Amino acid sequence: MQITDPDKINKFIEESAYGENILPITSICDTGCIFCSRGCNPPEIHRADIGLASLEQIFGAFEFLDPGIPIIIGESAGIIEEGEPTLHPDFPAIFERLIEHFPNTPVEMKTNGRNLDRNLLDLLKKKDNLKLDVYLNSASARGRKLLMNESSDTSARTLENIKLLSEYGIAFSGSIIAFPNITGWEDIRLTLKYFSDNKAETVRVHPPSHSRYADAGVFPDSCDFIFELKDFINSIRDEIDCPVLVDPSVLTDLTPEVSGMLKNSPAWDAGIRSGDIILSVNSHKPMCRTDAWNRLSEAGRITAAVKSDGVIETLEWDNPRQFCSGITMEFDFVPSRADRLRQVIEYTAGKVYLLTSESGFELIRSLMQLFKIEKDKAEVIKVMNQSFGGTINVSGLLTVDDFLAVIHDNHAIAAEASLIILPYESFSCSGNDLKFCHFTKIRNETGIDVITL
Ligand code: SF4
Repeated sequence: MQITDPDKINKFIEESAYGENILPITSICDTGCIFCSRGCNPPEIHRADIGLASLEQIFGAFEFLDPGIPIIIGESAGIIEEGEPTLHPDFPAIFERLIEHFPNTPVEMKTNGRNLDRNLLDLLKKKDNLKLDVYLNSASARGRKLLMNESSDTSARTLENIKLLSEYGIAFSGSIIAFPNITGWEDIRLTLKYFSDNKAETVRVHPPSHSRYADAGVFPDSCDFIFELKDFINSIRDEIDCPVLVDPSVLTDLTPEVSGMLKNSPAWDAGIRSGDIILSVNSHKPMCRTDAWNRLSEAGRITAAVKSDGVIETLEWDNPRQFCSGITMEFDFVPSRADRLRQVIEYTAGKVYLLTSESGFELIRSLMQLFKIEKDKAEVIKVMNQSFGGTINVSGLLTVDDFLAVIHDNHAIAAEASLIILPYESFSCSGNDLKFCHFTKIRNETGIDVITL
């Protein structure tokens, strides 16, 4: 369902700024991916095409942005459809104003790289703490034609633009949506190498997923695809100088394992390698990957106990500044969120049910084990995405209807639950899902207390 009401669109722009620190600029996209999800959403899902946001809307959203955390541009923002930010004809004026308003706030901008010519790079270079996420999908004209129906001229221009980034000293990471069934594995290997040779800090490889409304024939068909992808990346890791991450990954535990290393970085020089397990950082035992990574990324002296090929050793190095250790780890769970979860469960009289996406299920179960929370106190239930269907398995696309379907099917929840906890990713900051249904509908229908966390 396309939302066209201007008042609602204004509200979504403000909500995405306030709730996610995302500044929506445009929904216009010139990429043309054959796997694009636009047009493949269930009819009840609300989508808002903002076209080109007006300067009034964009500058008005500034007051809702948090200067204390990175501002994100070009990312999908809840109901608003993502677009290519550099296509906004007023992008230079918008970016200049952003620099002026938020001189010290990091900015992360997602772009297809087509317009990153010298004029635009001169402008972007003015922002010290800018990081680009360039999604190429393929670094060959053939691959780009197959995946994005791109002309050879545009391909050549885009790939040349990537070479300019290191000349301009602009930090960037790369993104690929992996379609080896269309381009072949060799094309993915060459694309990773292209990013690495052009000094990308990291590359994220995304396994594609689709709703039941998409043409499933376009997508890799194996349900083990993610494991094939991980095996492939492991097999070529030595050829690639920057860390490569699979995102979203399928994580089944919280073990703080190093997934990638930037060669010649401080931690690399100290001897840390992919596959190492971090046992302690400056005498603190990390609770999960994210906790370990945060601690390993602090500026100053780092002393880490590491298990490498079964051997435990202590390695030391200095991080000249925050986030420059060179270590990457897959994202699992924010420690403060985990603590809050534990506190809510402990302080709730009666049993708590945690409803999770398919992809988050094992992680939340690991968290309960880590906190030694017994099943009669808290139980984790997997919620399948029936709204979108297909291979969608992340919490961001679950709806109230999906949660209610599980609650109605599982009679123990109605009989035992004192509290139901839902993943906050499924809702906007005002509590609505993508069908614009508020999560409190679950409490109204079941009589059970419900929170998002
Ligand atoms: S970049 Fe995103 S919005 Fe644009 S065509 Fe590709 S998938 Fe669709």
